[in-house]
Amino acid sequence: MNLVVLTGAGISAESGISTFRAADGLWENHRIEDVASPEGFMRDPALVHHFYNLRRAQLHEVVPNKAHQALAALERAWRGRGAFLLVTQNVDDLHERAGSRALRHMHGELRRLLCTACGETGPWHDDAGVDTPCPDCGAEAMRPDIVWFGEIPHHMDEIMEALGQADLFCAIGTSGVVYPAAGFAAQARRNGRNCVLYEINPTPTGGRYFDHVIAAPASEGVPELLCRLGVGADS
Ligand code: NAD
Ligand code: ZN
Repeated sequence: MNLVVLTGAGISAESGISTFRAADGLWENHRIEDVASPEGFMRDPALVHHFYNLRRAQLHEVVPNKAHQALAALERAWRGRGAFLLVTQNVDDLHERAGSRALRHMHGELRRLLCTACGETGPWHDDAGVDTPCPDCGAEAMRPDIVWFGEIPHHMDEIMEALGQADLFCAIGTSGVVYPAAGFAAQARRNGRNCVLYEINPTPTGGRYFDHVIAAPASEGVPELLCRLGVGADS
């Protein structure tokens, strides 16, 4: 029984991190195109660094919630049952802090920077700016290691492979509007393995692919999913 879980900003909402499009296309009062596009970064790199510095600093103030913890328990309980992959669109680090290991950040990570001169990426826990030198090549050409609109998400080959082999797929806290992640349910549905699809969202997206919808916040919905899969949350 191979399981693929996709998470979005909703799973971190109960930890106190705002979601993205929730109301009006703004992310923490900024227009998405200003802070989450290569063009926005070219226009005003200092503003974009400042925006991600604030998001990075917030990670010191938040902790994983019951949903992150239950997913880490699910991964542990799944050993011996089949393959497990957790794909997140989130750029926070709450899944790994809760203990998830088979985790892929398809949209990058707040706690990493990318050098636009030499292409190296590395961990980064402090503020960064336009004059931050690259630890590898020294160029003052660092940017957040975040996948912006128009850029290709990370780990797509591995994710597509896992979706092709999935018997169970669950989308948690994602609005289903940002591609390619928005197409993952359809991808799993088409894989010829009669994949069973779950959605967990207090405001379900109404995606026609889902067989089971748990209309609840993630902190309740993910423990409920574990029950339905016959897995104890204390695994
Ligand atoms: P989104 O903001 O577009 O959608 C959030 C979804 O979460 C909505 O469908 C909403 O109904 C649902 N939701 C709200 N509260 C919830 C709860 N308690 N439990 C479960 N679901 C809940 O998010 P998205 O689909 O992930 O797409 C936005 C993009 O924004 C992502 O690519 C991501 O990189 C970026 N982002 C990341 C973070 C983060 O890392 N925590 C935060 C904001 C935005
Ligand atoms: Zn460099």
